[in-house]
Amino acid sequence: MITQETLNRLRHFEEPRFPVLSAYARVDLDPPAQKEFPARVGDLLDRIRPAADDASLEHDVRMSLREDMARIAEAAAVDHHKPGAYAYFACGARDLFEEVALPHPVRDRITLDTTPWTRPLGASLDEYRRTCAVLVDKSRARVWEFYLDEMREIETFRDPLLRDASYATGRGADRLRNKNDEISKHHYRRVAELLADLFRRGEFELLAVGGHAYEAPAFLEFLSPDLRARLVGTFSADMDTATPADVRASAGELVDAHQREEERRLVDACLERAAAGRPAAIGLRDSLWAGSVAAARDLLVQEGDVVPGVVCEEDGWLGLSAEACPLCGEGVRRTPDVVDELVAAVIDEGGSVQHVRADTPLREHVAAATLRFPLPAPAGG
Ligand SMILES: [Zn+2]
Repeated sequence: MITQETLNRLRHFEEPRFPVLSAYARVDLDPPAQKEFPARVGDLLDRIRPAADDASLEHDVRMSLREDMARIAEAAAVDHHKPGAYAYFACGARDLFEEVALPHPVRDRITLDTTPWTRPLGASLDEYRRTCAVLVDKSRARVWEFYLDEMREIETFRDPLLRDASYATGRGADRLRNKNDEISKHHYRRVAELLADLFRRGEFELLAVGGHAYEAPAFLEFLSPDLRARLVGTFSADMDTATPADVRASAGELVDAHQREEERRLVDACLERAAAGRPAAIGLRDSLWAGSVAAARDLLVQEGDVVPGVVCEEDGWLGLSAEACPLCGEGVRRTPDVVDELVAAVIDEGGSVQHVRADTPLREHVAAATLRFPLPAPAGG
């Protein structure tokens, strides 16, 4: 699975002399088609073979390119590819080689450039939220980052209390408690500032706060309005006994609930937009047409819905059924899942895609999209 570090490294990679090869190939849902993956990658590589044989290029440039092609073909032939897509980035002369699994299909594509082509990679990662989970008590804090399948502890610290006031008595005990309260406030402020700093640097999108139910509210008082807007909720956890896996599970539940809520909001907004007569596509047929003419800006698709359909390889027309493309008249390719084709097309056109798992009216519509412009009259299909 892709990591942000890999994506960042790829985004910053630049090589002016040796070409950087980027290739994206999908892995189909049905097992027989999955077996075609190496051949699919082979077809892609064939498209750039002329460059590898181009005598006008310097010898070492051609050698680097041939080495990259061989390495990608070799990686594609290994039988471990899951449905979705794989991206390859290679520049042998600079020791770059990455094979990255993507959870959703993207359009097959191969490019040679001075930088890796990462846009489909980024778009496909958009639906994952970088989450910061903090476990806090009166004097301690532990901060983790969650993203995709990764978990990383990024900070842990303790602001020492004077000493435990619970067994002290009399005026001394009051003084000790007051002093400890001061220290706790100072501690909470320090944690809140650390979080504000992490979020300001754009490292996280969502925040989950864990701790004892009697302590967490006091801490939340110190969060800035910005941070409170990112807060998905609080969970109950004990600093001494909670394992990182516990924190991950609790934060994960909160993020899930938040995501479902956001999905409901997006579906409602799209339906309201359509009801108000503003550009929107409701239902799969209109959404496919929107994808065919690059009109879809924000696409919503029901997660897991698989609908067979047809694709024109010439111009990207998408439909539920047709013998020939209504736009160009060429024959169409049948696909077991035209929703996946739609997702790939929208990402390719720089739009966003939200896979909706929540129970919303989208269950009935399968797909809906807010549009960049009103749809032209449909071309059939
Ligand atoms: Zn066509």
